[in-house]
Amino acid sequence: MNSTKRFSFGRILLFLLVILFLLIGRPTGFLICTYIKDKKLVKVEKNGYTNDASHLNETKVDSTVKAFEDIDKATAQIVQLIKLAKEQGKKISIAGAQHSMGGHTIYPDGIVLDMKGFRYMELDSTDEYLLVGSGALWSDIIPYLNIQDKSVAVMQSNNSFSVGGSVSVNCHGWQPNSPPIASTVESFRLINADGKILNCSRTENAQLFSLVLGGYGLFGVILDVKLKVVSNKMYTAHQYVIKSADYIKEYDRLANDANIGMVYGRININPDNFMQEAILSTFIIDSNAIIEPLQEAAFTSIRRTVFRGSANNDYGKNLRWRAEKLSASQINGKKFSRNQLLNESVEVFQNSDTAYTDILHEYFIPKDRVGNFIDSLKKIIPAYKVDLLNITVRNVKKDEDTFLKYANEEVFGFVMLFNQEKTKEAEMQMKAATQRMIDAATSLKGTYYLPYRLHATKEQMNSAYPQAKEFFLLKKKYDPAEIFQNKFYQSYK
Ligand SMILES: Cc1cc2nc3c(=O)[nH]c(=O)nc-3n(C[C@H](O)[C@H](O)[C@H](O)COP(=O)(O)OP(=O)(O)OC[C@H]3O[C@@H](n4cnc5c(N)ncnc54)[C@H](O)[C@@H]3O)c2cc1C
Repeated sequence: MNSTKRFSFGRILLFLLVILFLLIGRPTGFLICTYIKDKKLVKVEKNGYTNDASHLNETKVDSTVKAFEDIDKATAQIVQLIKLAKEQGKKISIAGAQHSMGGHTIYPDGIVLDMKGFRYMELDSTDEYLLVGSGALWSDIIPYLNIQDKSVAVMQSNNSFSVGGSVSVNCHGWQPNSPPIASTVESFRLINADGKILNCSRTENAQLFSLVLGGYGLFGVILDVKLKVVSNKMYTAHQYVIKSADYIKEYDRLANDANIGMVYGRININPDNFMQEAILSTFIIDSNAIIEPLQEAAFTSIRRTVFRGSANNDYGKNLRWRAEKLSASQINGKKFSRNQLLNESVEVFQNSDTAYTDILHEYFIPKDRVGNFIDSLKKIIPAYKVDLLNITVRNVKKDEDTFLKYANEEVFGFVMLFNQEKTKEAEMQMKAATQRMIDAATSLKGTYYLPYRLHATKEQMNSAYPQAKEFFLLKKKYDPAEIFQNKFYQSYK
């Protein structure tokens, strides 16, 4: 009797230990292994070469010229550089933080003009505009604005990008009910292909204004930008786990709050229920809360480990989605300042495995077709050998300002992050998958985003951007000697 009792007690204990292991032991062990394997991020630049965030674009260049910090010195330096390049028959590609992924900042044997050092900034007397050197990164700007209770009106979801690069791709973020960043640009100064300094706004050099914003550095060097700023506010976070098929219905219900500050959605990519669920995160303005000082981003190490553990690993993907759903309930009601939310670097999640790289895609889909696009992705992605790590969804209102527009009406941007092996085979798979997704987007009257890999065919580019032919003709009009060059222009002109 006693021995039977002991036996069944032993079995129960074993059973409980197995459950405990499955609940805690396996995930803990998995995360510890991921943490140990995760290498330090090291940026290796070969002398005489340049590359971009794709890590697939290493290219030999003539030279890299770093812009001076001082306004007068930098202006004279750039004017002189353009003159010299013309005389010597050389080309100039313009670089900010080089987070574009298709050689948009690169031209073989060309001169790279690195604008990052040129980053002065000044809030104007009305407190409504920031005058800022185009090489300034958001990570320079946010702390500066924060001291003055101000914040950026529209920017990407991370702080690692330059102002020049951001306006040249016409970026957008998770600020809802906002067109892309061009809508917040009051004016900018451009050094054109003749070395002349032009002031561009909606009333002065208006065509250039619309071509340069979203113009991928092809019309001249943006010297500085007058950017609209907004007040920094405290937000209360709410996260909701929803069905992905209900995304727009739930978005309309939850994000149509008059006090909405920021919104983004995430669609699950784990194999257990691929793209069936979403987490919608809303941030509602709390005007009574005292604004907290900027702090270092919290829990970065564990967030990174959970995220990187999902690369090439189905168990890691399922674990991550479970953890994200769990943390959704924990975050409800927590307060963050707008600047705190915007002030996160891309390095928190960046790939550090030198055999792999992170590749982004983005597709812009009209609001009433979001459900159709989700259905298409469910079929397309599993058909290719690609490792999808993340999908976020953002709202973008119609762009009224740029020539080469991606938001021809209110759209939802599907930002997709892939982990890609640096091999020819992986590149071919990614190219084929990208082309299918572009076709799916354009068949729904959507578009795709241009700063990423140049996998779209010329026909796809012209179909998504019917203005492209005229855009490239105007490029030749404003820069007949084609001084300002890059791989994007070479691929689609
Ligand atoms: C991890 C990651 C997350 C991202 N998230 C978002 C997002 O949330 N929303 C979004 O919209 N985009 C996003 N992007 C894309 C990003 O906005 C673009 O790649 C942007 O160009 C990055 O800025 P940059 O300073 O790195 O530009 P760069 O890559 O340096 O340059 C981009 C283009 O701008 C031109 N350019 C740069 N500076 C100047 C200048 N002074 N004068 C004239 N032309 C210039 C370059 O020639 C080039 O054609 C993301 C990219 C990455 C890698």
